[in-house]
Amino acid sequence: MRILSRTEIAVTSDGVPQRTGNNLDPWYANYAERAAGFAASEVRALFAVASRPEVVSLAGGMPFVSALPQDLITQAMERVMRDQGPVALQYGSGQGIPALREQILEVMALEGIRGSVDNVVTSTGSQQALDFVAKLFLDPGDVVLAEAPSYVGAMGVFRSYQASVVHVAMDEHGLIPEALRETISYLRGQGRRIKFLYTIPNFHNPAGVTLSAERRPEILEICRSNEILVLEDNPYGLLHFDEPAPNALRSMDPEGVIYLGSFSKTLAPGFRVGWALAPHAIREKLILAAESAILSPSSFSQLAVSEYLSQADWRGQIDTFRGVYRERKDAMIEALGEYLPQLSWTNPNGGFYVWVTMPDVLDSKQMLPRAVRELVAYTPGTAFFADGRGRHAMRLSFCYPTPDAIRLGIRRLATVVNGELDL
Ligand code: PMP
Repeated sequence: MRILSRTEIAVTSDGVPQRTGNNLDPWYANYAERAAGFAASEVRALFAVASRPEVVSLAGGMPFVSALPQDLITQAMERVMRDQGPVALQYGSGQGIPALREQILEVMALEGIRGSVDNVVTSTGSQQALDFVAKLFLDPGDVVLAEAPSYVGAMGVFRSYQASVVHVAMDEHGLIPEALRETISYLRGQGRRIKFLYTIPNFHNPAGVTLSAERRPEILEICRSNEILVLEDNPYGLLHFDEPAPNALRSMDPEGVIYLGSFSKTLAPGFRVGWALAPHAIREKLILAAESAILSPSSFSQLAVSEYLSQADWRGQIDTFRGVYRERKDAMIEALGEYLPQLSWTNPNGGFYVWVTMPDVLDSKQMLPRAVRELVAYTPGTAFFADGRGRHAMRLSFCYPTPDAIRLGIRRLATVVNGELDL
């Protein structure tokens, strides 16, 4: 094989290799094949603009950390340094600090999960736990099943291990069991290897819907009978507005479900503390995957979270967050009804997101520059599909802007939509 010279190849903005005389990336020929999956989002540049203060951003998923008791968190961090400084500054267990893993069991118990500390592995946010699981299970060409649409950050991880995401239809009650059955049998007929079902059962990112209690055992039974592992991603489960979410899938099938949790939404993403609760049979390999990646997660962050949990009223703080997000969700739903009655949307019972569906003549990706000119930003639906769908949809986040800013943002969005429709 001829080694390509460093000046012959470059990458276009969408990650496609191109022979060129321009020396844009002299190392392109040396990348591993999997690096082709590391494509920057097409809308990243626009998001940089959208972070300007005059733009109402309904695009990101940033928790409203200003609602946190900053003084209690500062005190927790000070106590960690005063009482456990040498531990906080040292390497720790690859699996995570035992005291925190015990507390994680208490958090998961709120959603019906009973587990053992032995099976909890802490990680740098649940994003890294997604990476550990993908690293452990995915070979190039494997299939991961995921809802249509699905979380963009998870699909990026699966793609980086050269797996394909195949979507399964969902409706307002979550993943549709019959669609799951059909997809599995179609893929098996094609000789494809399905490694796991990746699902966000509660207050879905981006769809805003929750898998009904009735469907949960059915989904598990379909996966069990087809020997497909379930990867349950549940960062929003405790942020419900009315009824709590039904019990976690993991609570119904401890050996068939890897559960992922996070302190990013119930406390703060800056700590970067998340976790996996693995089936017992998998735990050893998962810990080895974690150790090979990072040796050990941040001791300081884990101790700070642990100290906060043991000293502060964390359940009360989650209630505060629920109140804040509920008010913002109501503001968004009301404003959509007032300013954009020609569109349709989901009405979530928790979490951060509303999924908006537009008439077929509108294209959310193509419309985004106009929206940014009108000083409002959203995430185009195409970001949440692995197969190019989503042009007529968008995700709106209500977690960060105030209710007034949300109303202003939706009013601006209506100007954009009506402009596109020539109204
Ligand atoms: N899963 C889902 C569904 C998410 O929405 C996010 C963050 N937006 C994550 C995982 C990763 O969160 P973190 O790494 O902060 O725990």
